[in-house]
Amino acid sequence: MPGEKGPQDACGVFGVWAPGEEVAKLAYFGLYSLQHRGQESAGIATSNGEQILVYKDMGLVSQVFDETALNALNGHIAIGHCRYSTTGGVTWENAQPTLGATSSGTVALGHNGNLVNSAELVDLVAERYGAQRRGELARGNTTDTALVTALLAGDENHTLQQTALEVLPRLRGAFSLVFMDETTLYAARDPQGVRPLVLGRLERGWVVASETPALDIVGASFVREVEPGELIAIDGDGLRSMKFAKPERAGCVFEYVYLARPDTTINGRSVHSARVEMGRELARQHPVDADLVIPVPESGTPAAVGYAQESGIPFGQGLMKNAYVGRTFIQPSDTLRQLGIRLKLNPLREVIKGKRLVVVDDSIVRGNTQRALIRMLREAGAAEIHVRISSPPVKWPCFYGIDFASRAELIANGLGPEEVGKSLGADTLGYISEEGMIAATEQPASQLCAACFTGKYPIELPNAEHLGKNLLEQAELPLGAPEDGLRTLSVSAGGASALQQP
Ligand code: SF4
Repeated sequence: MPGEKGPQDACGVFGVWAPGEEVAKLAYFGLYSLQHRGQESAGIATSNGEQILVYKDMGLVSQVFDETALNALNGHIAIGHCRYSTTGGVTWENAQPTLGATSSGTVALGHNGNLVNSAELVDLVAERYGAQRRGELARGNTTDTALVTALLAGDENHTLQQTALEVLPRLRGAFSLVFMDETTLYAARDPQGVRPLVLGRLERGWVVASETPALDIVGASFVREVEPGELIAIDGDGLRSMKFAKPERAGCVFEYVYLARPDTTINGRSVHSARVEMGRELARQHPVDADLVIPVPESGTPAAVGYAQESGIPFGQGLMKNAYVGRTFIQPSDTLRQLGIRLKLNPLREVIKGKRLVVVDDSIVRGNTQRALIRMLREAGAAEIHVRISSPPVKWPCFYGIDFASRAELIANGLGPEEVGKSLGADTLGYISEEGMIAATEQPASQLCAACFTGKYPIELPNAEHLGKNLLEQAELPLGAPEDGLRTLSVSAGGASALQQP
């Protein structure tokens, strides 16, 4: 479903503890492999045991960092983050890792997910640290992540680990966190384990990352998932695992459908295999007489392979994708904008002409992309177009870290499959059933979140006025001044750098 704005993922996180290694470069390549999870900004924080440095900026990982920046980030601990925003606007201040002062030093933090009790946490920060301390948020950081950073400040009677064990149970929503102080790397995952987070082993250290390909790219071997409700601490004394909440697993099923890389394994299940199986099931549920199965690249490809295998209809590439689309910050001119989808996809006319096509995609959100795509395929000479979707109709918004659209914008909200098919201009449309999608993940239905399809939210939501991406831009947030006592190397969007001293 390339093209339409959504669903967008809500960040990739990476952490490494490895004395003797160039940890900033490991974090860079880890983030590089997680780029699909967030393309708005990127950042890395490192510690050499005494001082934390942070370098972050707007843009892709490869745009933000160069050799000089990475060489400046020395130390043996690093965390990294690439962002797609679900709370707080797209600003440099909201880029991560965020920084905060603790009673004993500094904390840097990166977050994948979205909290649903930010309003409550704002009150908690104000109650604990008082209105006189002006903090990250008051300086313009309007993310739920900045709230967690502020809460981790703690007091002189508690270590960061003790503070984290007290704060983490108060967070509600989806959070896969990596954070660090000068000496220790931490990783934590919400009790539902909504977003993935895995632990890997290097010869001389440890790695945590959103997805398993980030372990592969730095040569780390997969050890296990960070468990839902678990806090991990890694330092010179080794790895410590602590439970801060009882696990109530509700992993995001959409990670299997679309969000995660196909070469990722989540809770023991290969995402690629799950997608192929979704395609096979789709062929069993919605067979059709046709000449060719084509995917909407890239995300529809594994399911199209599965559909072709099960149906016996040949698989072909009928659409070419510009691999670099979405990676330009240059806005197209009006003339180019009218060409719309052609910036991203172009039909192979000799493959398509005169054929009865099965077009396989992973999901339909607003439907604008599929409508334009079908028009384009007809212009290219397709005889029939049968759209097959490897997830059920998306009818509900996500509050746990994926930015779909408002409910009113979702095409399946109010229209049945047949009407959606008509509205898109397809000859037929078939969605996989909820049961079929879940079976393909090989996870028990009771341990998955499928709320965007069912409306059954596994983590209780507050009233509507306490939800929303820009909630924290509207709130008055009396927070502390976390930069007191910090040393941060930061680079502005304009490229000027500044070393902030205590
Ligand atoms: S609502 Fe949908 S996208 Fe959000 S966590 Fe649940 S399954 Fe994933």
